[in-house]
Amino acid sequence: MTYAYDDQNVFARILRGEIPNATVLETEHSLAFNDIAPQAPVHVLVIPKGPYVCYDHFAAEASDAEIVDFTRTIAKVCEMKELAADGFRMISNAGAHGVQEVPHLHVHILGGRVLGRMLEKA
Ligand code: AMP
Repeated sequence: MTYAYDDQNVFARILRGEIPNATVLETEHSLAFNDIAPQAPVHVLVIPKGPYVCYDHFAAEASDAEIVDFTRTIAKVCEMKELAADGFRMISNAGAHGVQEVPHLHVHILGGRVLGRMLEKA
């Protein structure tokens, strides 16, 4: 799959400093910030700084340094938000079936309450 990246998406604008964000953690290759419409007491989005549309795009094309940085940033956010003891959920939506609204890779980290079953039954 070849992905075309739209650099006008809202997370690209956050990365360029055009709109504000509530930063949780910034690293060389990644940014973690609070979701603007939180669905749980903890709802952090982790994004790579590079132009990747979704997780499979990133996993296939990002450098080793970007992938390590992104993965470690997720771990650091979990530690900062003290999520290990009670657990949490990570979600990364992709494309139309995944109902991805923002076409820049993001992992949702959700926690702070019991989150229910992963999917509603169809
Ligand atoms: P998704 O449906 O996986 O693409 O999720 C996109 C997420 O981005 C939603 O949870 C939105 O609430 C969140 N979002 C959209 N705009 C912003 C923003 N400016 N700052 C933080 N989160 C945002």
